[in-house]
Amino acid sequence: MGPEYSFVIPVLNERETLPELARRLEPILLALDGACEVVLVDDGSTDGSFEIMRSLHEADPRFVVVRLSRNFGHQVAITAGLEHATGNAVIIMDADLQDPPEVVTALAAKWREGYDVVYAVRSERSGESRVKLATARWFYRLMGRMSDVDIPADAGDFRLLSRASLDALLALPEAHRFLRGVVGWVGFKSVDVPYDRHARV
Ligand code: UDP
Ligand code: MG
Repeated sequence: MGPEYSFVIPVLNERETLPELARRLEPILLALDGACEVVLVDDGSTDGSFEIMRSLHEADPRFVVVRLSRNFGHQVAITAGLEHATGNAVIIMDADLQDPPEVVTALAAKWREGYDVVYAVRSERSGESRVKLATARWFYRLMGRMSDVDIPADAGDFRLLSRASLDALLALPEAHRFLRGVVGWVGFKSVDVPYDRHARV
């Protein structure tokens, strides 16, 4: 039987953060009410991250590694991970612990309540420059004006997708998905879960 939950985590040169990521994930994998897999996508790392991911897999086969042939960028790496995820609920999360794994149990609870798309929405950003905060704000405002699909302003890619919404997403023909946009486009019942975004580890 396949896992209930799949984590999809894009990785570019995260040698320093991967051991801490695994350590922080462990209690969450235990706390979730179903079997888990963690799909780590190596997006062309050159700092030995792949070797660390491979040893994580060897120590714990719930860690699965997808290695891309070169650096394709965050969004393509996530898409590759989504294509390999087999769970009934899929959690997209960054490797640098800016998306705290502890929030995932709250996302899962909303999924159990019947939501297909659960956005983890940043209520605070520590360790981000004012320029990054301002440009992020302009970006979402502009995107909101240009399109008729709702892109939640303070949700990154940290979210949970049900199998139904993920399959709808993967059926889209776009090669370069701007995931934050197309998740809204495919519809489904969605909800926000607020959390504090941390500084990069
Ligand atoms: N990442 C990736 N490919 C890239 C750039 C980043 O897979 O080309 C990964 C990175 O390792 C991290 C996540 O995507 O897990 C988010 O990257 P980053 O922390 O640099 O983005 P930010 O927090 O500034 O949005
Ligand atoms: Mg980051």
